[in-house]
Amino acid sequence: MNKYVVDLHSHSIISDGLLTPEEVTRRAASKGVSLFALTDHDAIAGIPTARLVAAAQGMHYITGVEISAAWHGYPIHIVGLGFDDTHPIMVAALKNIRIGRFARAEGMASEFDKIGIHGTLEGARKYAKNPELIGRAHFARYLVEMGYAPNVNAVFKKYLAAGKPGYFPHQWAEFTEAIEWIRVSGGVAVLAHPGRYEMIKGEREQRLLAEFKEAGGIGLEVISGSHTTEQYRFYEKMAKQYGFEASIGSDFHEPPKTGETDFGQLPSLPTGLTPIWERWL
Ligand code: AMP
Ligand code: MN
Ligand code: MN
Ligand code: MN
Repeated sequence: MNKYVVDLHSHSIISDGLLTPEEVTRRAASKGVSLFALTDHDAIAGIPTARLVAAAQGMHYITGVEISAAWHGYPIHIVGLGFDDTHPIMVAALKNIRIGRFARAEGMASEFDKIGIHGTLEGARKYAKNPELIGRAHFARYLVEMGYAPNVNAVFKKYLAAGKPGYFPHQWAEFTEAIEWIRVSGGVAVLAHPGRYEMIKGEREQRLLAEFKEAGGIGLEVISGSHTTEQYRFYEKMAKQYGFEASIGSDFHEPPKTGETDFGQLPSLPTGLTPIWERWL
């Protein structure tokens, strides 16, 4: 049952992580992970390297991506696992999302201009190691460099969270579409870190889970680096109630400095849940 140390959620410089796909994959292996997926935001260019390095390190590898999507206007993240990363529908859909991210980045930069903080688009681009993908984390790193806040987390709190002066609303793909891209390319859709959607709690959260399932979602990230132990228990219960298979992922972005989760630190799945990875083993 606990034959594998599983981590099916992580990021590299292909999106907003700080390590290369090779470094991320090596680190996972060195921390004891034996079943691994790299899941960059809206980008799959790291997959071929991650797959090769994982094989060389003796890890089981599953293709992954974390798609930015909208549920009734609220941003959510959907992890796709086990799809064909050359499938033309998936490739084109992710490319479109990345293009949309540039329009959003221009909007963000003009919000910053309005409050007298100039040059943020150029600044953020410096931190976007993959020139095809830009996101809030790249802006955050530039604002830290410029001394507007002591760290990335503080930049998010002060400028980049919804309603803050650097926030620019964006229309992401509908969650039903994202689930469909994953499905047609042969994969399964997992609702990422459900505990993190602060605007989607209570009755609304129950609607999200029901609609995610109804739209073809298969899995729930029960064990996440951004969940508390209370949330592990809550989402264990939700997975059972809604009939979701369960996933585990650290959401690794960089070697931890303060509270972030490293590879190999997460608990295994509570008993009684169906591991989503069994289908690939
Ligand atoms: P985006 O996809 O461009 O909206 O950026 C979302 C990413 O920003 C997340 O995947 C995290 O990597 C990062 N992020 C979000 N909130 C925070 C926060 N409070 N502190 C640090 N990083 C954050
Ligand atoms: Mn991220
Ligand atoms: Mn996420
Ligand atoms: Mn993530």
